[in-house]
Amino acid sequence: MKTMDDAKTVDDTRENLEICKKYCGSCPTCKGNKLSGSPPNALFCARGKSSVPSKVKTISCYCPACEIFTKYELIVGYFCAQ
Ligand code: SF4
Ligand code: SF4
Repeated sequence: MKTMDDAKTVDDTRENLEICKKYCGSCPTCKGNKLSGSPPNALFCARGKSSVPSKVKTISCYCPACEIFTKYELIVGYFCAQ
């Protein structure tokens, strides 16, 4: 079975950030928790989960539609919260 440990490491690059903004930037979870206002702001699959003071309340995740999700063979999503 494939696990998180098998996933490739996403590079924290400007190019990947621009791609991420199309998805995390319009995601209800991101907007609902104001994630863009707290580090790491976006690109959570590369930078790790959000540092919002209260735990991220998950609503929905747009990651599975993202090119990076496919390219790096990521699984599950909700990288901002876990
Ligand atoms: S997989 Fe999710 S966190 Fe990673 S770049 Fe795409 S939208 Fe952003
Ligand atoms: S990681 Fe997923 S749930 Fe979190 S902000 Fe990005 S698209 Fe939304």
